[in-house]
Order: sequence, then C-alpha cells, then structure tokens
Amino acid sequence: LDTADASAPVTPMMAQYLEIKAGHPGALLFYRMGDFYELFFEDAEIASKTLGIVLTKRGKHQGEDIAMCGVPVVRADEYLQRLIAHGHRVAVCEQMEDPAEAKKRGSKSVVKRGVVRLVTPGTITEETLLEPTRTNLLLALARLRISDDEARFGLAFADISTGEFGLSECDEAGLPAELARLDPSEVVMAETVHEDAELASLWRECRAAVTPVGRDVFDGSQAERRLAAFYDVGTIDGFGTFSRAELVAASGLVTYILRTQVGQKPALDPPRRDGASAHMAIDAATRANLELTRTLGGERAGSLFDAVDRSVTAAGGRLLAQWLASPLLAPEAIALRQDAVAFFAEQALLRGQVRARLKSAPDIARSMARLALDRAGPRDLAALREGLTGIAAIEALLRQREAELPPVLAGILSALARPDQGQAARLAAALQDDLPLLKRDGGFVRAGYDQALDETRALRDESRRVIAGLQARYAEESQVRQLKIKHNNMIGYFVEVPQQAGEAFLQPGLRETYVHRQTMAGAMRFSTAELSTLESRIASAAERSLASELQVFSDLAAALLGDGAAIRAATEALALLDVIVALAVLADEENYVRPVVDTSLAFAIEGGRHPVVERALKREGKPFVANDCELSGEGEGSKAAGRIWLLTGPNMAGKSTFLRQNALIAVLAQIGSFVPAKSAHIGAVDALFSRVGAADDLARGRSTFMVEMVETAAILNQAGPRALVILDEIGRGTATFDGLSIAWAAIENLSAVNRCRALFATHYHELTQLTKKLPRLANATMRVTEWHGDVVFLHEVVPGAADRSYGIQVAKLAGMPAAVVERARAVLAQLEATDRQAPAARLVDDLPLFAAAPRALAQATVKVPDEVAEALDGLDPNDMTPRQALDALFSLKAKR
Ligand code: ADP
Repeated sequence: LDTADASAPVTPMMAQYLEIKAGHPGALLFYRMGDFYELFFEDAEIASKTLGIVLTKRGKHQGEDIAMCGVPVVRADEYLQRLIAHGHRVAVCEQMEDPAEAKKRGSKSVVKRGVVRLVTPGTITEETLLEPTRTNLLLALARLRISDDEARFGLAFADISTGEFGLSECDEAGLPAELARLDPSEVVMAETVHEDAELASLWRECRAAVTPVGRDVFDGSQAERRLAAFYDVGTIDGFGTFSRAELVAASGLVTYILRTQVGQKPALDPPRRDGASAHMAIDAATRANLELTRTLGGERAGSLFDAVDRSVTAAGGRLLAQWLASPLLAPEAIALRQDAVAFFAEQALLRGQVRARLKSAPDIARSMARLALDRAGPRDLAALREGLTGIAAIEALLRQREAELPPVLAGILSALARPDQGQAARLAAALQDDLPLLKRDGGFVRAGYDQALDETRALRDESRRVIAGLQARYAEESQVRQLKIKHNNMIGYFVEVPQQAGEAFLQPGLRETYVHRQTMAGAMRFSTAELSTLESRIASAAERSLASELQVFSDLAAALLGDGAAIRAATEALALLDVIVALAVLADEENYVRPVVDTSLAFAIEGGRHPVVERALKREGKPFVANDCELSGEGEGSKAAGRIWLLTGPNMAGKSTFLRQNALIAVLAQIGSFVPAKSAHIGAVDALFSRVGAADDLARGRSTFMVEMVETAAILNQAGPRALVILDEIGRGTATFDGLSIAWAAIENLSAVNRCRALFATHYHELTQLTKKLPRLANATMRVTEWHGDVVFLHEVVPGAADRSYGIQVAKLAGMPAAVVERARAVLAQLEATDRQAPAARLVDDLPLFAAAPRALAQATVKVPDEVAEALDGLDPNDMTPRQALDALFSLKAKR
C-alpha cells in the first residue's frame, strides 16, 4: 500500500483512511462506516480469507481497484475473535461525531474518526473473546545486557481481564522454561530483541503472538516514572523491591497496555514478584511430554489438568492450571496448601455448601476489569451484585469454623470480609431484574432508586395519559369518533382521521388548530401546537431519563472501583478456595493420599497410580495396577545423590505409564495436592526433566533422533542432584549399537555427574549389566507371563531384568500375519544361537568406568604410569635447585 504518492487524486475519505492506517502498522484496520466496520486493500484480502467473507471492490486508488470487505458492527466480536485467534491484531476505528455534524461543515467533509482501541491477543477483556478457563496473559520481555555475551531478562506479565500482574527475571538459558511456564497469549518485546538471531527459534516455537515494539516502550530511564504515573503514586517503592530488568519489563508492559487501550487505564494489581527460583523448573519439552495442561495434540481433554480438575469456577480452573504449570519448591509453602486441602478433605458437608455457593458465583474479576476500562454493561453490575452476595455467603460459612481454620483458609476468610457489602445492597436496590446488554439502551435502573429518574419517567408515563386525554378532547371537539393520535419517526405525533372526515379540518374553525401534514389513501394527518410541545417534552424526558440512568451507572461503577482492591482480593480468595476445595474433592473421590514433602532426597512412592490412565481405565471398568517406586538418595551438598531405576520390559507392558506417573505424582505433590498412591515421601524436586515418546517434529525440520538427542543433551547438561529425570527409550531412533552406546553413556553420566533421581526405560536388555558397576543403579522390569504362547501383561513393576523382549508376541497380538510371526520366530532362534554372549556383558567387564565426571574430578583421576609415579614420589621440590628440577623433568619425560 503506497501512501506516499500524493500526485494521484485521493478522495477525502480515502485520505483519512490512509492516514489512520499509517498510524497503526501491523494491525488490520476496522474502519467504521455506519453499521459496518470496513476493511480495505490488503487488510480486506487477509480478513476475507481468514473469515471466509466476500471480497468486493469500492472505487479506485491510484488507478487500481480498492479491495474491500466489511463486518456488521453487531457481530464484530465474533469476527474479532477469529482474527485474534489467527494471530492478527485489529485497530478499531470509530466515528467520533454524528454524520449530521460533518454534513453541516460541507458536502465534501468527512466524519471525524479515530482509533479507540487496538485489539491484540493479550489485551482482550470481552467475555465473548476470552476462554473462560484460560488465563490470558500479556507478557512484556525486557532484555538488559550485562556484558557482551550475557544478558538478564525481565518478564512482566498481566491478565488484563482479571488485573493479575506478576514479575520475574531469568537469564537466557532460563528463558524458554519461563515462557513455557507462563504460557502467555502475547509476548511484547523491543524490535532489537525480536530480531536477535539467537532467540529467533524461541519466537517461532512459542504459541503466543509475538509483538515487536519500538525501543521507547522499554526505555529504562522512564521505567519508575511511568509505573508511578500508571498507579498514580509518587513513588513505586511501596510495591516492594524489584530488579532493574523487572522494572523495565513492568514499565514496558503498562506502556504497551496504555497504547493498545488508547489511554483507558485497566485496573491492574500492583506487581508481585513471582520468581522462577520459587518453582520447580520444567522445560517446554517436559511440559509437553508430560501433558500437564494440554495433550501433545493440544487438547485439554486427556491432560493432567483435565484429570484432576474438580474446580467449579472459571477463575478456579485458571488458578489450578497455573499451579500445575508452576509447582512449588519450599516444603513449608507446600505444607500450608496441604493443610488447607486436608481440612476440606475431612469436611464433606462444609465442602458441599462452599462448592454450591462457588458454583453460582459469576466470574467477577473479568467484570471488574471491564468496569475499569469503561467497557462494562448493566449485566456486569448484576454479576458483581451476585458475586458480592456469594462472597458474603461463603464468608459466613467459613466464619462458623473460624477457630479451626488452617492459615491459608484463615487468610481467605479475612480477604472475603474485605469488600464493602453495602455495595451489594445498593446494586440490588438499583438494578432491574431483566437487564439490557448495553447501558445506552437504558431501562436497567429499578423504579424507586433514583428520584430524578423516577420524575422523568413519571413525565413520560404522564405524557401517555395526556395524549389519551387529548385524543378524547379532539374527537369530542371535532365530532369525529374515529380520530386517533399516532406516532411515527417521520413526523412524530400526529392526529389521524378518515379521509371523508378530514375535509372538515381544512375549513375555518378547525384549520386554526389542525395543520395539515399528509394525505394518505383513506386517511389524513394533522399536527397541532399542543402535540409538538408534548413531543419535545417526551423526547427530552427520554433523554433525561437515559442521562439519569447513565449517571446511576457511573456512580455505582465508581463506588465499586473505589472498593476495587478489596473486591479483587476477595475474588482471588474465591479462586484459591475453589482450587483447595477442588483438590479436597479429588483426594476424596479418587482416593489420593497426603504426601510428605521435605528437603531430603527421598522419592519413595508406595502403590502409585497414573492419574490420567487410571481414569481412562476406570471408564472402561478396568483396574489400574498400582506400583511402588524407590529412588531415594542420600548425602549432603556435593555428595548428594539419588538412585536410578533401569526399567526393562516389552512394549505395551506399561513402562511409559510408570515413568510418567512418578513425574506426575511429583508435580501434584508440589502444588500442594494429595497424590494417587498409598503413601508418598518426596524430597522437593527442583527440576523435572522428561524425554518420553518419539513424536516426529517435522515442523521444525528435525528428525526424531535429533530432537531426542537435543532434549537428552539438555537434561545431561542441566540436571542437578535435586532433579527428577525420566528417560524413555533413549537411542531408539538410530542403529542398535549407536543407540545402545548413547543410552549406556547417558546412564553413566546420570549416575556420575548429574547424581539425580532418575527412571530410565529401555528396550536394550544389555544395559541391565550396568548395575554390576554402578551402585546406585537398580534394575526393574514389567512382569509378564505367557499363556498358550501369548504374552499377558501384568503391569506390575518388579525387581530384576526382563528375560525376553516378547516383541514377536506383541507383533502377533497386533494381528501380524501368522506366516510372518512364524518366520520371525525362526530368525530369532538363529540369531540367539549365534550370539550367545551378548557384547554388552563383555563390555561391562572390559570397559573402564565412565570418565565423564566433572573436570576437577576427571583431572584427579588421570592415570599416571607407575614408573613415573614412583620417580615423582622420590622428588621434593622444596629441596631442589632450578637446575635439578629441570633435570628431573627431562628424566621424567624420558620414562614416559
Ligand atoms: P510401554 O511404554 O511399555 O509400551 P505403556 O505405558 O504405553 O507401555 O502402556 C500400555 C498400556 O497398558 C496403557 O495404555 C494402559 O492401558 C496399560 N497399562 C499401563 N500401565 C498399567 C497399569 N499399571 N495398570 C493397568 N494398565 C496399565
């Protein structure tokens, strides 16, 4: 779109369009024309393709047809949602004056227009555009260079639809995990950061819409001032201490928000630090593999979240998903949540009452946010009325047990007591039962609430009576019984009589009062001075009553916003309560147990189950076989080390299920939930790593094997002694000996370097030999029996190594042709006969123990030839001249 060429004649409207469009690069422009938003040029092409709406033409620009399409204003939300979902941004441009005003200025004059809002994935607040159970985070990312090759990243993230606002900081290595944890809808960053080649893959892989902005948005020198201005405070010191990177990110976030909202200020809570250090680190691959909040296919159904979610409010669902994305580290913080869950696990009656109340409570956080942005309607006020009433009712329920409440619930109780309950009463008195969607439709204020409104309404009602009286008088005076007073939009109120009777009204006597307006087929219409006066009185009464209603609305809104901090605190408390009660329900319904979480290196699960698979099996009426897992390690500091289980067994025996269930139990334990097990003792896991399955990642142009190696490398490089590592079938994607060797070396590395708790499932039976050398490694296998030549999976994990792989039996189960199965048996028998002694068994005896220990360790264990060692022992450097030392060095060198 070439806007620079001024030589071509451009209509005034098109000139206005182009100017506005140029002010909002990167956004589709919704240009308001009457009842439609119109899109032009390339915007029209994009929108018509994305929305499947008709592309038309309108006039010419520089000799070319102008492409155009339009969406009706009344259905704009629906179209906006689809455009946003496709990653577009939309600038909404409204008419800023009545078209009549523009006409007055001259026939060529164009209606004043202006962009009132930029709709982006991270800044939407409309109910229809939001997913109720998903937190809609906008994330601003600020990069602060420390040196040439080192930078810190500040992350500021807010959900404008609820007011939640958090800050955190990380380095470049930690950035992918932080992005994965927060899972934003939109990430805003300076262009320079966006263009950085080293980060490019991050933006490509991120699910969020990525928005590069001018450098000024992240201007560090303005950070404090902009934040203080946003919150209307003199200094931001009262909010707490934040790092430079966090402050710059926070100021970038509010600056961007003000731009997209074109000056409207959303009600954001003061920023809260939400450091990654307080959470279990889970990288993006692990999150995806473990299907914490979404399955690999991107669905909610089938994820851990879906299996454990018993929340009854949208806000509770959003909070639970956040918890699952960020399990805690501190045992004390975990225990506080557990205490609260335990309380409700025992109080079935109270739990039921609280849930019933929660269920009927509307999502008021989002209503409050719309109120702050002046986008709320009467139904938002009604939602707040219901919400406040619900808060009071739940407060009363908890109050009965005040003395017994554990700390988290006591905190919830005091937050619920904060809002001014007078507001609920006022809203109840003010609002009608049936409410219009938009406040400008009027008619939402109850009679008796506002005196001025009641008076104008009385006037309106009275006018109706006056008209009835007039009609009777006119009929009487004119002797025309059929005389009626009617109304239409063209001529307002008028007198209508049948045509034959009408002639009389044109004669002296009547014609002084009745002014002829229209002659219709069979009827004549007249106006009178009295009717005109009445008309303007009625019109102004309607206008005044709407004005009074809007005043009532804004008074109520102001009062609610004035109490905003208390209402938001109470709303957050409700979401928290919902999650806690939901976890109690889960524990009770699914027979979960309270785990012990402490600072040890324990990982002792007795009778553990997989929360998702168990549920799926239950639906089919099949039992889940519970299994123990014992990876508890010992030691302190650098000596600390966990155990590793090497799990073998045929395909379909339940290896993956077992691996994942233990990772999921750790996640559940550290969000404060009870866990699917008979008992569990877990030393807080600081990082969870998993490499499970072998989904091809063709989209990124990497082979399965490459992805597997990249992810395994990340684990071996990063996992420390507090980590829990789950590796499934490493090395499968390459030739047998390659794969075996890589798996072998990986296990040695886990044992010698990472020293973490780990589960390693493999089909390389050779690896089981490693337990002879690695004391912390133990073999476990899935129990299988044979029944008439068929394999039967018992899904039971037992000590020891699998004796056979049963691959052929599985192939038979899968319906492989009988001839192929028979042939395979024969081939296998041959192979086994020729290769009696598996090469791996020899390897364990011949290969020296793994030498990939940390640098210092490796140097200390360098093997020195004996002769040299002896000679060295005989030397005392304190007792040698430089000359003697040099001689000794030469003779040592000769011995080598
Ligand atoms: P593998 O990883 O060994 O190929 P999976 O873990 O994928 O096997 O398990 C295969 C199937 O076996 C699962 O889909 C599930 O239906 C069933 N299964 C696994 N573990 C159990 C268990 N502990 N109890 C009951 N059924 C199980």
